[in-house]
Amino acid sequence: MNVHNAEIIISAVSPKQYPETELPEIALAGRSNVGKSSFINTLINRKNLARTSGKPGKTQTLNFYLIEEALHFVDVPGYGYAKVSKTERAKWGEMIETYMTTREQLKAVVSLVDLRHAPTQEDIQMYEFLKYYEIPVIVVATKKDKIPRGKWNKHESVIKKALNFDKSDDFILFSSQTKEGKEEAWQAIEKYL
Ligand code: GDP
Repeated sequence: MNVHNAEIIISAVSPKQYPETELPEIALAGRSNVGKSSFINTLINRKNLARTSGKPGKTQTLNFYLIEEALHFVDVPGYGYAKVSKTERAKWGEMIETYMTTREQLKAVVSLVDLRHAPTQEDIQMYEFLKYYEIPVIVVATKKDKIPRGKWNKHESVIKKALNFDKSDDFILFSSQTKEGKEEAWQAIEKYL
C-alpha cells in the first residue's frame, strides 16, 4: 500500500472510546524502544506521526490511526519499562487484553522484536498470548541494519526458537533506516484486510 493519508483518530483507554467503524484493524505491539514508532512512520511515509508513547509518565493509551480510509493501525503502548508501577502495569495489561480479546475489527497483530537480541520474557508472553487467542501474528524483527548480513539467519533462528514460532505466521526482517522489509510488511498486512 502506498500511503498518502494517515491521521490519528483517537487515543483510547476504554472500549467505549474505540472508533465506531467496521474498518479492519492491525495492532502493533512491542517493548519500548524496539522501533515501533519508526516502523509505523516508515509504513505510512511520515517522519513523525507516531511518537514513542510508552515512556513512563505518559498516558498509556491505544492510539488509533486511520490509514487511507481503508484500515486502522492501533498503536499499543510499549511494554518493558522497569520503572512502571505494578498498578500501572496491571492497567496496561487489562487494557490490552480487553482490546485484543474483544475487538472484532482486529485482524492481526504486528509483534515487534529487536533482531539484535533474543526475545525478552515479555516478547515471549505477548506471542503466547496471541497464539492462545488465535490472533494472527506478523513478527517484525527491527534494526536489521545493525546486524551484518551474514548473521541475519542466525539471529532469526534464535528468535523463532525462543518464541516457538508458528510457521503460519509471517516473519519479516525490517529496518527503518534502509526501509528494507517495508513492502514485505505491507504485503503481510494486506492479507488480513
Ligand atoms: P518505540 O519506542 O518502539 O516507538 O521506538 P522508536 O521508533 O522511537 O525507536 C527507538 C530508537 O531506535 C530510536 O533511537 C530510533 O532511531 C532507533 N531505531 C528504530 N528503528 C531503527 C532501525 O531500524 N535501525 C536503527 N539503526 N535504529 C532504529
